[in-house]
Amino acid sequence: MPDFTVTDDILSKIANQFKISEETVKLLRDFYMTIATAMKRQYLAHVIRTMEDRLREITGNAMFRIICSPVAESGKNINMASAHYYRGRYFAIFYHPSTDEKQLRIMLAHELGHLFLIEFLNSKQENEYTEKTKIEPISTILGIFTIFDKNEFYHNKTAPFKHNSPEAILQDFSLLRNRADNKFNIS
Ligand SMILES: [Zn+2]
Repeated sequence: MPDFTVTDDILSKIANQFKISEETVKLLRDFYMTIATAMKRQYLAHVIRTMEDRLREITGNAMFRIICSPVAESGKNINMASAHYYRGRYFAIFYHPSTDEKQLRIMLAHELGHLFLIEFLNSKQENEYTEKTKIEPISTILGIFTIFDKNEFYHNKTAPFKHNSPEAILQDFSLLRNRADNKFNIS
């Protein structure tokens, strides 16, 4: 398997290829790493982003948000997630930061299933579901569809996006320079 660590050797290749000082490239790498570290906590982000977009339409609130937050490390409820819904405003899911990540995704998918039921079905039917409605295990079934979809993606859909080597990535980015010559990029 190729190694995609951004080593000092890669940094100097980037600096040479794009004619920027190694020092600047290194600063940018360090800045990016702060974002990459935070990104690891954006579980099920595609699903959440898509649901947010739909809920902004349904609720008419352009600021509708779905928040996933870890509780304090000292919290006792490991392997449990809880959700709070503020109708038309936001949906917040809380979880323990020590929860196994694979299991956490299952729990988040289940909680998102609740939101899906409350808002999506209510928008199609006569306000039948509320935060208090007993909607187990229907929310779990929607969670199962989410995790099936994610596995289908990870196992079967990612191959076209993969580069074979760090050099292949740099080569594809070098094509962007064609813009300066009014040529379309080819990759
Ligand atoms: Zn539930």
